[in-house]
Amino acid sequence: MLTGREGVTVPLSADAADRARRILAEIVALGPALPGTILARSMRCRSPGCHCHADPPHLHGPYWFWTRKVEAKTVSQVLSAEQVDEYRTWSDTDRRLRALVRELEQIAIAAVEADLRSPHRPPSGLRPADPPVQNP
Ligand SMILES: [Zn+2]
Repeated sequence: MLTGREGVTVPLSADAADRARRILAEIVALGPALPGTILARSMRCRSPGCHCHADPPHLHGPYWFWTRKVEAKTVSQVLSAEQVDEYRTWSDTDRRLRALVRELEQIAIAAVEADLRSPHRPPSGLRPADPPVQNP
């Protein structure tokens, strides 16, 4: 069963319910999940005579960053060498968490699509009202 906030339940196959339980158990066992990206970047400075402006350039770094979006802007934080491995692990955990959430969503989508209680299409010739009626 898939029970929503309103107490409405959609039948889940035993198989799907099993998979959902396994996914939830894995999510419970996950550690910190860090969104964003861990990346190394070589840098150029502002001093025109520096080797980083030579041909071929000899850049500064690489430096490690954790970057993420905050209100549509990219925010970066410099990481020390000892932070990189730990942050990568947390970042991998975040990727796994998102994959597990997508799997849970797929289970719900499949259950709703197969829900035999869904009404058939409205009679032909009817068109959707514009704007949509919120509480018919
Ligand atoms: Zn430089």
